[in-house]
Amino acid sequence: MARARHGTPRGRPPLLSPELRQQGWSMQSEEGEWYYVGRVITRDRPSRGWPAAQLLGRDQADELYKEAVAVAVAKCAKDTAGQTCYICYGEGDEDGLVRGCACRGESGIAHISCLAEQARRLVVHAEAEARDLDDDALDAAWKRWCICGLCEQDYHGVVSCALGWACWKTYLGRREEDEARNFAMTVLGNGLYAANYYEDALSVQKAELSMRQRLGDAEDNILAVQTNLANTYRSLGRLEEALRLRQEVYSRYLKLNGKEHGSTLLATNNYAVSLNLLERFEEARSLLRRTISVARRVLGESHDLTLNMRKTYAIALYCDKGATLDDLRESVTTLEDAKRIARRVLGGEHPTTTEIEWHLQEALRAHETSDDETLDVSAQEDDADDIE
Ligand SMILES: [Zn+2]
Ligand SMILES: [Zn+2]
Repeated sequence: MARARHGTPRGRPPLLSPELRQQGWSMQSEEGEWYYVGRVITRDRPSRGWPAAQLLGRDQADELYKEAVAVAVAKCAKDTAGQTCYICYGEGDEDGLVRGCACRGESGIAHISCLAEQARRLVVHAEAEARDLDDDALDAAWKRWCICGLCEQDYHGVVSCALGWACWKTYLGRREEDEARNFAMTVLGNGLYAANYYEDALSVQKAELSMRQRLGDAEDNILAVQTNLANTYRSLGRLEEALRLRQEVYSRYLKLNGKEHGSTLLATNNYAVSLNLLERFEEARSLLRRTISVARRVLGESHDLTLNMRKTYAIALYCDKGATLDDLRESVTTLEDAKRIARRVLGGEHPTTTEIEWHLQEALRAHETSDDETLDVSAQEDDADDIE
């Protein structure tokens, strides 16, 4: 199977060259990441490729933390030059400063060690006060490992990864049954994923899943880990494994929460996206036909997820090589309607809007091409093998 390399950033879709388009490629996106559809894609990223036992070992934690901090500080150097830490007011001489959230200007710049200490103290305080593990204040304290206290947005990229190592280093000495240790593993897995260290994220997430299963953890927690794991498989181009997991997560949410619950609806769209990536368009369409009406009723016509589901459905129509003219027309009208709503509700710059608009152009092109019937599918298949 031919593969094309790319390192596509989040945001607007990359332009598809006319050659690739002629060879039957198109693009699909999920959570702001773009994928070439028509052939499976993997993106090469650095990873240690260590087994989980080694990656999570007590002996390495300090070294891996320091390395992750150094990477984050280097990446943020331009942004933080001449600034001070908003927590300790110190400069970035020894430890180095970072910023990896939505803060702008002079706001949000800090040492990783200060961010970590802030989160650790909040958790200590909340743990002392908490009545049970579902305590809201405890939840809020834990979020400080992942979300900036100033702008309330997720840390991203290498900063998220450095905080993941800081978190793991803080709690790895606790007992395996301790939820803090399990949660630290989630934070580390997410951080490794955010920094595109997919192989390492996979090791950590698999270890976390088997540990939670062994301990008989709540089904919600297990499904959340499986969702993260499926995203990692997808990002590694292991689409069959991603699909199997997403199918399982979808079925279990359906059983656990019913078809109208937000978690089930989200899992349905994830599952359909995976079907699309494997070109199993008929199954994706049938799944979404049943679900979109539920989403419209429960979430509303202008909800981001409803719009994304309709986009996924339209993709399953126009990307299908066996699409009829009626299918292509339905795809275009679906995307036109979704675009109108998205522009009004989310605005023109929102990723959902730009992605819908991009697919509308592709669907219109597919519609035009099918009109003059100039496509020769067998010739395209031969050409496609030459792609590197
Ligand atoms: Zn500081
Ligand atoms: Zn911030």
